[in-house]
Amino acid sequence: MTTASWDKEVDVLVVGAGAGGMAAAITARIGGCSVLLAEKTDRIGGSTAISGGAVWAPLNAQTDEVGHPDSYDKVWKYMRNTVGDAAPEAMQHAFLASCAAAVAFLEQNTEVKLAARGYSPDYYPDREGAALGGRSLDPVMFDGRLLGSHFHELRDPLPEFMVLGGMMITMTDAKHLLAVTKSFTSWKEGMKLVLRFLGDRLRGYHRGTRLVLGNALAGRLFKSVLDQGIEYWLDAPLQSLEVEGGRVTGATLVRDGKPLRVRARRGVVMATGGFPWSPTLRAQLYPQPTGPWSMSPQGNVGEGITIARAAGATLGSGQFAPAFWAPVSILQKPDGTHVRYPHLVWDRAKPGLMAVNAAGRRFVNESTSYHEFVLAMYKSHETVPTLPAFLVCDSDFMERWGMGLALPGGRPREHLVRAGYLFRADTLDELAAKLGVDAAGLKESVAGFNRGAEAGQDAEFGKGSTEYNRYLGDPEQAPNACLGPLRQAPFYAVKVYAGDIGTAVGIRCNENAQALDAGGQPIPGLYAAGNDMHSVMGGQYPAPGITLGPALTFGWVAGKHLAQQTAQPPVALETA
Ligand SMILES: Cc1cc2nc3c(=O)[nH]c(=O)nc-3n(C[C@H](O)[C@H](O)[C@H](O)COP(=O)(O)OP(=O)(O)OC[C@H]3O[C@@H](n4cnc5c(N)ncnc54)[C@H](O)[C@@H]3O)c2cc1C
Repeated sequence: MTTASWDKEVDVLVVGAGAGGMAAAITARIGGCSVLLAEKTDRIGGSTAISGGAVWAPLNAQTDEVGHPDSYDKVWKYMRNTVGDAAPEAMQHAFLASCAAAVAFLEQNTEVKLAARGYSPDYYPDREGAALGGRSLDPVMFDGRLLGSHFHELRDPLPEFMVLGGMMITMTDAKHLLAVTKSFTSWKEGMKLVLRFLGDRLRGYHRGTRLVLGNALAGRLFKSVLDQGIEYWLDAPLQSLEVEGGRVTGATLVRDGKPLRVRARRGVVMATGGFPWSPTLRAQLYPQPTGPWSMSPQGNVGEGITIARAAGATLGSGQFAPAFWAPVSILQKPDGTHVRYPHLVWDRAKPGLMAVNAAGRRFVNESTSYHEFVLAMYKSHETVPTLPAFLVCDSDFMERWGMGLALPGGRPREHLVRAGYLFRADTLDELAAKLGVDAAGLKESVAGFNRGAEAGQDAEFGKGSTEYNRYLGDPEQAPNACLGPLRQAPFYAVKVYAGDIGTAVGIRCNENAQALDAGGQPIPGLYAAGNDMHSVMGGQYPAPGITLGPALTFGWVAGKHLAQQTAQPPVALETA
């Protein structure tokens, strides 16, 4: 082999342009490396661009400022009480020791800007070490116009997270929009949003350029990639790794239908976003049944993990769950395509929504985290069919909050009923028949739920019993922000499946984000970040942002470590 046989040479090749990959690429570049960022699809951003964008980075510099002084001991206690032994302690420590520094580095050196949440409880607020705010950060709104002609290369958010056919909104924006006729402040805020959006459309943008949530994070990372002059290739999937003498020396990518051999003098970072769309890996690693229910982009099929394994990398083990779960409802459109809706933070915790299995029985605290909700679906399914489960509400709830793709406030929903997404019935008996669930069970469950709602206490499952539950409830609802009765016909339901927002099993790595071989030794030249790396949370979901926090952190760790390596001499010299 000679140097001439390489089509391109760089210090660092990063595969996959999501949070993990872009953090690694930017850090390595700032550290002085030449970097190529290779992305399989025609868009930058991956799952990151369609995500909520929350970043869990405890001990970040803003924690005190937003009123939540924290300590390593306290967070560590929380990690022990949630993640426990589901991930190696050393990796959990590595994350906690670096996440604040990674965020600080990105904020000081790049376009990435995050704002710590003043109130955002960890998902198990009653466990020792939990915090009620400060640890999770949101991407600061980003002006997509700053990307110039590259704006169209940024992956669009989920249409379901936009209104008016292209305007992004946060939960706060949604609350203002729902209250425009009731409050002057909301009217003003709503008008600002709409006018900005109309201006964007008039200027010819295909969607609004006021980016929030994960799209703001991906946009900010992408802007930083551009600012650093990092070369990036779209439509350039990784095909294989080049290994010489146990060292990863480069990779073959496909570009314009042709294989191109790229030499990576210091190393390759795998950041292809895990395997949620690989039926093979799902069959091997997920509980059953499983299906095409992931919210992640469909290009995330585990190529990074599979190709790294072929080069000697190993999978992590000991995880509590193989994926980060979320209940997902699915609409089949007339053209046969599917729209998936993740029931993450909007509807489930609100007063007047309950979830049942095929026996018409409740099986879960509906306002628990999306991860816990699906864990409960699988548990219930051991005895009663619960995949799918059913979210049920009455018409008061529907008008006030909406459910899944069915929007509140009298907006059209006939098409959803016709498509078999939304079930509607004048009586609970009729609803049960339409859903194929036990009618007596459903009626008893609703009666019990309503009694609990009157008392303000859900004796069966504790809906509204934790600070996290109530955070997502209705603050105007007393005595329990998450409990209200289902009384007013028509009644509605949607089916939810055991979906995910990404995978937790991935390449086993050390504290430097280096991939480890079967003997536990680092494979020279091979790194992983994001969901290609085995999760430091071990498939537990302690708090909002526990995948993006580690993705940014270990992307930064990998980039830094690569920048500290000496470039390997050309292969031609080695083999001459
Ligand atoms: C609806 C939704 C909401 C979410 N909200 C949050 C949240 O608020 N906070 C949080 O922490 N997590 C959240 N998540 C999860 C989070 O988005 C992901 O865990 C995270 O974005 C993964 O980052 P990544 O860099 O590993 O992968 P990605 O962002 O998916 O990037 C991977 C990239 O690699 C590319 N790729 C794939 N195969 C190849 C190949 N062979 N060659 C080259 N490129 C390849 C993909 O096209 C993609 O662009 C959410 C996810 C979803 C779907």
